[in-house]
This record gives sequence, structure tokens and C-alpha cells, in this order.
Amino acid sequence: MSALLDGIYDGELSIGELLGHGNFGIGTFNALDGEMIILDGVCYQLRGDGTAEVASLEQLSPFAIATNFVPRLKLEAPDNLKRSELSQFITSHLPSENFMYAVRIRGHFHDVRVRTVSKQSKPYRPMTEATLEDEELLFQDISGIIGGFRTPVYEKGIGVPGCHVHFVDDAKSKGGHVLDFTLAQATIEVCPGTDLELRLPLTQEFSDASLAPDDLDQQIHDTEVKS
Ligand SMILES: [Zn+2]
Repeated sequence: MSALLDGIYDGELSIGELLGHGNFGIGTFNALDGEMIILDGVCYQLRGDGTAEVASLEQLSPFAIATNFVPRLKLEAPDNLKRSELSQFITSHLPSENFMYAVRIRGHFHDVRVRTVSKQSKPYRPMTEATLEDEELLFQDISGIIGGFRTPVYEKGIGVPGCHVHFVDDAKSKGGHVLDFTLAQATIEVCPGTDLELRLPLTQEFSDASLAPDDLDQQIHDTEVKS
């Protein structure tokens, strides 16, 4: 995540290899060409205009998180919850905040507000600048899946601390990086994680990147939370 913030938008890991590490996940593509969501072993690319399509196995990613999703906890969400209330609801059911959790929310949403990064060209700008022009899209009265991870604060810089989730609709035709949502009815599934394997790109750009800026918290907030 720190490398993305520094404008390192090209990685070496192919989608085919990534899928070998898990059937569920999120991330982005080389050149920041859209948001990624992996569901049931299929990798979807959510483009800047909000449209979705299945990614090819040869595409590369500079940043992705994947796991084999085994739901250990299944909860019926109280109806009509907002994002902040849902976070509290999930947290109250977790055994501890010190583990990693994959989270899948399936159901119907009153609204889902997303943004999607758009393809960058070289020379790459830092992510705080690259995401300034992101278009926000609002999907209303829509069925779909929100998938992503709840990451402990101590993993800051490797991932995005807190909840980082992406959305795709049931038809797998549109979605993006979730900024906000209101549930209608949904089922929440949680898969705890206690193993972290980290793959770093052996590129010159990554070798030269600045990965511990003083304002890391602010950069993560500006690019991922945006409110
Ligand atoms: Zn995202």
C-alpha cells in the first residue's frame, strides 16, 4: 500500500498466480487500471467508468490481497444499517481486533457509493494526486456483494488499516472501491486470518520507493476513505 501511495503502479504478480493464493480478494491492476474484486475464484476488473468485466489471467497487479474464503462466522445484518453502524456490528461479533478478517456481505443495498481509480500513464504521479479526479458513482436499490478485508492497525502500510472493501453487483456488470453504503438486507460472512505471506516486486521502482512517509496516515485517508 505504501508503494502505491508513492506512485509505484506496476507490479509483477499475474492474476493467474494471485488466484493460486486464494479464491477471494481485492486489489488493483498495473497502471492503476481499475479496482479488483475476486469472488469464488473469478477476478473482476472494475473500470473508471464503473463497468465490470472478468480480468485475464495474464494481467498484472501492483497490489492485491487474496485468501481462501472459509466463512467461520455468519451473521444476518439488522436491516437498513449504514456503513459506520455495520462496522460496529461486525466488530462487536469478532473475537478480537488483533486478527485479520476477510469480510463478505451479500444482499440488497439502498445505495452504494463507490470510486474507481482510472488508468494512469507514465510518469506516474503519487496516488494522492492520481485519485483526485476519481469519479464517484452512486448505485441505488441494487443487489450485490461487498468483499474485502478488515486489517489491524499494526499492518498499516502493508494494507489499509480498518475496513477496505470493494463492491460488484449481482450481474457482475458494475462496481468499485466502496466509500459508503446503506444496507437493505444482507448476510455477513467473516473469515479470520492468522497467516500473512507478503510478496514484494523485484523492480527498480519498488527498490527506490519511499515507503515510510511521515504523513502515511493522511495519505491513506485521502486516497482510500475520502471523507
Ligand atoms: Zn480499494
